[in-house]
Amino acid sequence: MCKEALKIRNKSFLLKKQEDKRATLLSKERDFRSLQPTEICDKGDLAVISREKELLCCLIEVTAKTEKEVSEIIDKFHYGTYGICENCFEDIEDSILKKNPLAKICEICHYEMCLLTKR
Ligand SMILES: [Zn+2]
Repeated sequence: MCKEALKIRNKSFLLKKQEDKRATLLSKERDFRSLQPTEICDKGDLAVISREKELLCCLIEVTAKTEKEVSEIIDKFHYGTYGICENCFEDIEDSILKKNPLAKICEICHYEMCLLTKR
């Protein structure tokens, strides 16, 4: 697969992922708003509602974070910087982009950063 074909494939993958994350966010936010205690709720019901709200909050937070990350990568197509290492500004290897369309750094920088964090 040539670099351009790989970029086109990854862009459509990322746009689909962005769409999925946005749909999940909308549905989870709707679920969150619908979790309202009613007059017939007892203490047990309230505890369940509160716990469910907490879980939804975590899920919304994680999904929003991923959506933001994906959107930032999609912006790189617009600026022509997709596939360029954020650390050394060299091209990210095709093999890395094939495995991980969200890759931001090249293999060498990734390796060096791993070594640094292990020290
Ligand atoms: Zn690099």
